[in-house]
Amino acid sequence: MTVIVVGGGASGIMAAIAARARGAVVTIVEKNPRLGKKILTTGNGRCNLTNINACAGSYHGADPGFAAGIIEQYDVKKTIKFFEKLGISHKVEESGKVFPMSDQASSVLDVLRYKLEQGDVKVIYEARVSEIRKNENGEFEIKLADGACIKGERVVLTAGGKAMPVTGSNGDGFRLAHELGHKIGDVFPALVPLKLEGRFFKSIAGVKISGTAEVLDGNKPEAGDRGDILFTSYGISGPPILQISRKAGEIMQNGRNPVLRLNMIDSMPKERLDGLLAKRFYHAVGKTAEFSLVGLINKRLIPVLLKEAGVNNLKAPVENLSAGERKKILNILTDWRFRITGTTSWPNAQITAGGIDTREVDKNTLESKIVSGLFFAGEVLDIDGACGGYNLQWAWSSGTIAGRNAALSE
Ligand SMILES: Cc1cc2nc3c(=O)[nH]c(=O)nc-3n(C[C@H](O)[C@H](O)[C@H](O)COP(=O)(O)OP(=O)(O)OC[C@H]3O[C@@H](n4cnc5c(N)ncnc54)[C@H](O)[C@@H]3O)c2cc1C
Repeated sequence: MTVIVVGGGASGIMAAIAARARGAVVTIVEKNPRLGKKILTTGNGRCNLTNINACAGSYHGADPGFAAGIIEQYDVKKTIKFFEKLGISHKVEESGKVFPMSDQASSVLDVLRYKLEQGDVKVIYEARVSEIRKNENGEFEIKLADGACIKGERVVLTAGGKAMPVTGSNGDGFRLAHELGHKIGDVFPALVPLKLEGRFFKSIAGVKISGTAEVLDGNKPEAGDRGDILFTSYGISGPPILQISRKAGEIMQNGRNPVLRLNMIDSMPKERLDGLLAKRFYHAVGKTAEFSLVGLINKRLIPVLLKEAGVNNLKAPVENLSAGERKKILNILTDWRFRITGTTSWPNAQITAGGIDTREVDKNTLESKIVSGLFFAGEVLDIDGACGGYNLQWAWSSGTIAGRNAALSE
């Protein structure tokens, strides 16, 4: 069996290894001058390669259940064993995140490339696939942008989504699948910073807090997470924001306006914080309103917070603050709301939400139900996971299953 893998990222490399292990003659066609460029950027260069909690229920998409069979067939245990065998000793960090002991994403890529070389998998570099079609003999013809044509009995399309296009994934995978007759569901950037309404962001850009962020649809909390949150010149970023960004994108996709709610002091109940504020203000008699908050929150946030609470004279003596103004300050500290005006775009996104409609793909083999012999894996499919190793796990699992099945004779 000859198998052509279109796109040499995480899922494509796994598909090639799996197809080769089943005896196929495998060629990877990659538009970059090297394989796995995105892998190098993962986990801040450390590669959070999976998560011990990744399971059938960890994924999103129009049909999140689609991922279940694939993750069960090639689960986290098998993935870790596979990488251990290649030489990647692993460690488990907070929230079940798995990293290589080396803390180097490049070591993950090195062992994968070594495995490909050992298996004599051919790689064609700097080869952008411009068209895939099946000829009258039932063979696939893969046309490259330079005019060359490669033929194969099976194709695994692993060209990724649109996130971080500088790594090579610019949406070609969706176009190629669409030209082969597949429906592409709406795609939007996910695991991405959020743009917020407000004129003061430039003045607090770079301020980091530890707190809780939630996405509200109307008044209903739809997603939430806590951790380090970073204000930026356009809005907000940081791990909890990336985590809840998918829900914000989904609400916007449905034509509604999501709201971000921030609790900047989530280490105590609101009533206790109210008492603490009262005590601080009482002991600060003689200080300005502005100075009375130094030591409670980041200094650069104080002028913005007071203005948002309706306290315009920052130099007013703290004893002049009314009970109502204290209540407003308390509310801003624990329940600060912003209209989300958008997500930042593809260059800042870690993943693509949406993609090839999974109803047209076999959920056990990942073969197209429209074009026999065509398989899909990775981010090109309408499946995505949370931050923390879940997306690479999807790439490893789906790549392995697609590659394995592509190598089988009918
Ligand atoms: C900054 C960043 C950090 C991340 N960190 C993590 C993490 O720590 N853990 C985690 O689980 N996930 C992480 N992710 C997500 C994860 O990296 C991706 O979900 C995963 O790499 C997707 O793999 P893929 O093979 O589907 O696509 P990709 O890795 O995007 O690979 C697609 C490949 O196809 C090639 N290609 C595209 N079009 C063509 C064409 N026309 N012809 C030929 N080749 C083509 C591309 O050049 C590319 O090499 C991160 C993502 C980013 C952007």
